[in-house]
Amino acid sequence: MEIKKLLSSHITTNTKEIKKNSIFIAINKGNDYIKEAIEKKAKYIISEKKYNHKKVITVKSTKEFLSKLGQEKRNLYNIPVIAVTGSCGKTTTKEFIYEFLKTKYNVLKSIKNYNNHLGVPLTLLNINENTDIAVLELGMNHLKEIASLSKMCKPTCAVITNIGTAHIGNLGSKKNIFKAKMEILEGMTNKFLIINEQDKYLKKLKLKKSNLKFKKIKYYKTKTKFILELKKIKYSVIFNIPGKHMLKNLHIAIKVAIHHGIEIESIIKTIPQLKNEDGRFKIFKKEITLIDDCYNSSYEALKESLKYLKTYKEKKVIILSDMLELGKFSKQYHHKINRLLKKITNKEVYLTGEYTKYIKGKHFKNNEELIKNLKINKNDIIFIKGSNSTNIKQVSEHIKQKYNLTT
Ligand code: ADP
Repeated sequence: MEIKKLLSSHITTNTKEIKKNSIFIAINKGNDYIKEAIEKKAKYIISEKKYNHKKVITVKSTKEFLSKLGQEKRNLYNIPVIAVTGSCGKTTTKEFIYEFLKTKYNVLKSIKNYNNHLGVPLTLLNINENTDIAVLELGMNHLKEIASLSKMCKPTCAVITNIGTAHIGNLGSKKNIFKAKMEILEGMTNKFLIINEQDKYLKKLKLKKSNLKFKKIKYYKTKTKFILELKKIKYSVIFNIPGKHMLKNLHIAIKVAIHHGIEIESIIKTIPQLKNEDGRFKIFKKEITLIDDCYNSSYEALKESLKYLKTYKEKKVIILSDMLELGKFSKQYHHKINRLLKKITNKEVYLTGEYTKYIKGKHFKNNEELIKNLKINKNDIIFIKGSNSTNIKQVSEHIKQKYNLTT
């Protein structure tokens, strides 16, 4: 069967989305739903399990099959593709880039944080004749993963947000993390790269400095004000997302937008409208202030957030769960958090998880116990962060509900 011929059909990995004549690709547990796919009248079912039916095509790896489909789809369209990788800030930067580009183009973007061997090809399959440009997120937890994703989506512009310690458990060193991120160039012919010029590791690339400057930066609790200077012309800007790290993501996103022909006036108009994604340093303010950073955690991301917290005089309730995937570095990086916490006065630290035992504070067996013992007063600043799979979101959901916090 010629793979290309399948591309004109609707392709899905979810039986709930099957329409008549869809192609169903059975990934992992999907292999148990072949009967349902047949009943729903899928045109073909691509499976790893043998199944005696004329519509079922057995392949060795359905994931590889999906990757090939995504790659073939990409090859059909000669459009610019921006690929964003980095240890943290991928989703945020991708969303900022999207907001700028969509003022001029029909943009395809990765859904949520679909950034792996399933998410990237599934996104590529959504390219169509109306797509002017695509902005994708590429993630990894092993060497060679970004290389293969890059070869699949063939970026025309690569972005690396930073080199941190996320996944150092697998990668072994920051040097290897740097190497892994640089693999983004492997699927590119022009090797055009946009980076955070302040990143310690990325600086070493000695790329030509951008002429986009942020000057007179003033950080406030809920926003950042600065003067944007481009080719000697100055613009006064309000960015309604606080935090130095978020400003770095913005700087990158603007460079990408300018490179793709977005007028600076349009960029200036868009900046005040940018919002954080859920769980990524999102601030809710009522009788208490909640800084919901519970989507994920890594040493660098937590460090940035704790630096920001220092600016509050009010009582800070800091709730942390584990930073995962640090392997043999787990103890070291959790231990280092103590130094950052020490600089924050007027605080209470609540902890849950296996590795937070290296952090000084009140320790709890699980989220439920933590919630039961949580003491929050009016005007307190509540900060919540942890790796996504620790489900620390449960605590932030509880607080949002109790204090009726919505955006
Ligand atoms: P990713 O997609 O790389 O996981 P996200 O944009 O989803 O990144 O953000 C994940 C976490 O990292 C959030 O808690 C956010 O506050 C933090 N973060 C975002 N950008 C940066 C950055 N440039 N430096 C440090 N931390 C960041």
